[in-house]
Amino acid sequence: MKVKTRIILAVLLVSISFLSVVTFITYLSTKSAITNSVLNNLDSIATIQKNRIIDNLNDSKEKMFLIKNRIAVRENLINYKKNKNSFNLKKVRENLLLSIYPNGFVKNFSILNTKGIVISSTDLSLVNKDYSKEPVFIKGSKSDSLDNFYIDENKKPSVYLSSPIKYNNETIGIILIDSYADKLLSITSDHTGLGETGEITMGKRMANGNALSIAPLRYNPDGFLGLVIPKNAVHRPIILALKGEETIFPNLINYRGKRILSATRYLKDVDWGLTVNIDHDEVFMPIYELQRLMVFLILSATLLLIITSIYLSEQITKSFRKLTETVYKISEGDLTQRITINSNDEIGYMATAFNQMTENLEIKFNEANQLNKYLNDEIIYRRQVEAELKKFAYISSHDLQEPLRSIVSYVELLEKRYKDKLDERGLTYINSVVKASKTMKYLINDLLTYSRLGNEQSDFKSIDLNNIISHVIEILKVSIEENNAVIEYPNMPVITANYILMIQLFQNLISNAIKYRSDKSPVIKISFEEMENEWLFKISDNGIGIDSQFFDKIFVIFQRLHGKNEYEGTGIGLTICKKIIDIHNGRIWLESELNKGTDFYFTIKK
Ligand code: ADP
Repeated sequence: MKVKTRIILAVLLVSISFLSVVTFITYLSTKSAITNSVLNNLDSIATIQKNRIIDNLNDSKEKMFLIKNRIAVRENLINYKKNKNSFNLKKVRENLLLSIYPNGFVKNFSILNTKGIVISSTDLSLVNKDYSKEPVFIKGSKSDSLDNFYIDENKKPSVYLSSPIKYNNETIGIILIDSYADKLLSITSDHTGLGETGEITMGKRMANGNALSIAPLRYNPDGFLGLVIPKNAVHRPIILALKGEETIFPNLINYRGKRILSATRYLKDVDWGLTVNIDHDEVFMPIYELQRLMVFLILSATLLLIITSIYLSEQITKSFRKLTETVYKISEGDLTQRITINSNDEIGYMATAFNQMTENLEIKFNEANQLNKYLNDEIIYRRQVEAELKKFAYISSHDLQEPLRSIVSYVELLEKRYKDKLDERGLTYINSVVKASKTMKYLINDLLTYSRLGNEQSDFKSIDLNNIISHVIEILKVSIEENNAVIEYPNMPVITANYILMIQLFQNLISNAIKYRSDKSPVIKISFEEMENEWLFKISDNGIGIDSQFFDKIFVIFQRLHGKNEYEGTGIGLTICKKIIDIHNGRIWLESELNKGTDFYFTIKK
């Protein structure tokens, strides 16, 4: 994934998560605050309305009590019971008629005998009507009965109130008040503080336990006696109210199938339930709007964020692209490249630092180039000098050979012819000349070998080092036997090298190992190791060893650590070895300890 995409995603993720969390928390806290406030309101209304209903019922009871206990009514009823004189009933009726007018809710007052037959009524047409099978009589003959609701012929909600009239603990009749239920129902029709959807419902428990609505509903006027709620509908407020719950519910379902907030009350005396409800839709409308607003805000913010982060990341990645391009060009060798970012921020600082670094690099590179050129010139010069030297060494050693040979021949002749005539001193002189000539011969030979080196570079081929070593052993046979030397070597590899030079290399190193022997018989061990790009060889001896301070010196031409008298030699052998190793692109070095022996290492490129 590109840096740009990663930045966009990260910014988006963080911002949207933050916004969503804030929105969600705001939504929840607002919802809970509104819920609490509305439920408190519903609870207060429920308390008020319950009290109003209780007042209303008490009012009705009191009214009945007053009428039925009027002395005139009671006495005339008692007398009628005794002598069945219709005069007494007439008196009763006159009394009842006195009570009817001030109260517009009452349709008529009637007195029933203990068999349920109307014996007197303000409405004469009701006389002799039989109520014996009606609940109003059945209940009213035992105690106050206040909830015999019905709908009259004019479709008006009505209610019978009935109560026994007692004399000496004996029921002498039943008072029956037929009235409109408006006064009671005006309480439930009062929607003050309940908004658009709020309503108050009232229900009474039926014989089978279901609830019967006894109040017209705001959105269902037929709710009066027209709605039955089954007793097992536990999410309906009226059922909870009838269970005696007097509390608040944040999430119930009403008769319209809507989710509602609800407060419930129970009227124990009459076994009625009262509920005050309001629809979620109305209550939460503001937060639904808030929610919509938040979604809109989040979407807008997301869009804004996408645009901003694309812009920002484009700015950042543009700089990085510039940087990358410049780095590529620099890596291809163009150190004059610089980044042109002029922003005054971290990226700008980085660009400045980068340019500074490149400038330093360029300076250093130029310096290195100059040094390199100087070194190259030096190498060329040295090679020329070396070539000149070699030429000189070659010419002089070559030219010296002839006179040396003459010297040796003449001295030998001198020794041969005048041996008898010369005294001891003369002979010693001749001996010294012969010895010096021999040394000179070796020196000239070595010099010639050295001066010829470098002309064989092209002559590289596969060489079996086993053959080289046996050849060298053959050459050094006399010396090996004289010194009792032992040469140990494993099965050597086949390498690409110059045959003659390899002979010289091994011959020099092995002969040195024998020459610089200690008291012990020389034991020379040759070993090798195959590396990734080269061969590593080791020739170790148990000779006199070399002090570490001379490790480098011994490879320089004519450098010797011993006098001629101690060990014969010219000081050219290791110089030749180094040259041979140079020709084979390798390295030569040594490890040694005085009186213990020396390990010569060298490598040859594969
Ligand atoms: P030389 O002709 O004197 O042997 P070289 O160049 O071969 O010249 O060696 C240089 C010097 O290094 C020798 O004089 C000797 O002191 C020392 N040297 C070389 N090989 C050995 C060795 N195997 N053990 C100890 N000393 C050595």
